Amino acid sequence: MFDNLSDRLEGAFKSLTGDNKITEINVATSLKEIRRALVGADVSYKIAKEFTEKVKEKALGTDNVLKSVKPGQLMVKIVQDELAELMGGQAAGINVVGKPGVVLIAGLQGSGKTTFTGKLALHLKEKRKLKVLVTACDVYRPAAIDQLTVLSEQVGAGIYKEVENKNPVEIALNAIAHAQDNKYDVVIVDTAGRLSVDEKMMQEISDISEAISPNETLFVVDSMTGQDAVNTAKVFNDRLDFDGVVLTKLDGDTRGGAALSVKYTVNKPIKFISTGEKLNQMDVFHPDRMAQRILG
Ligand code: GDP
Repeated sequence: MFDNLSDRLEGAFKSLTGDNKITEINVATSLKEIRRALVGADVSYKIAKEFTEKVKEKALGTDNVLKSVKPGQLMVKIVQDELAELMGGQAAGINVVGKPGVVLIAGLQGSGKTTFTGKLALHLKEKRKLKVLVTACDVYRPAAIDQLTVLSEQVGAGIYKEVENKNPVEIALNAIAHAQDNKYDVVIVDTAGRLSVDEKMMQEISDISEAISPNETLFVVDSMTGQDAVNTAKVFNDRLDFDGVVLTKLDGDTRGGAALSVKYTVNKPIKFISTGEKLNQMDVFHPDRMAQRILG
């Protein structure tokens, strides 16, 4: 078992000088430890380096003659606060106001889009007392439509589907019309994903987005994919200018560094996390908890 970052930083200070304060010299060693912890948590080296530069400024600028706090602990606090601030920012609620409100779900195949669509439907129904319609715009995989149908039944949401129609833009528009006719408050549009980003897929989702003008576009990303998550987020954000990120599969053993990297790269808030396959395994994002997890 590795020591946690806090213990390692304490150790670094002790072995260096036995000194009880943060100086230019001993801060360098702890920054290395912090960088190592971040990279170990799947944060890219470049981001980890830029991040530790900020931490250094803060650490050296802090009145470090605090008698009651050991320098290692002080460093951990600075890192944790800085991480939480970086991942936090704008208010994380989602906007579903409209007649109906429209939420577009985007991401790669297997990232957890359809599962999250079910979870979000349940969340909006239970927490915000909204009448929710989900629709399946995956025209390539009939199984995806079946999966969403089962989920909609489990959460008590309506479903709109056109099994024969191969035009996802039409399906999405028809779903919204159906929602208007049937007094749904919100429509969640689940889309097709590919195993990797390709032009046809990006064009398709841009077309859907343009046609339906969603109130909210959420980009779903598997936190286990580490560095790849950043590249995918960038491509989707360039095309869709999405409003927020959903980080899935945080029940795995990933430390969640993708949260920091994605936020850092596209500067969009992380709004929800998914922590399992069950419908209630979803939570709104808490930057401070994620900071602790990343640091281990
Ligand atoms: P989609 O292709 O993006 O729609 O992905 P799915 O929603 O079908 O999810 C792909 C697989 O990941 C399924 O087996 C889901 O049960 C599983 N899954 C989705 N979210 C989570 C999660 O948060 N944790 C875990 N462990 N599995 C998840």
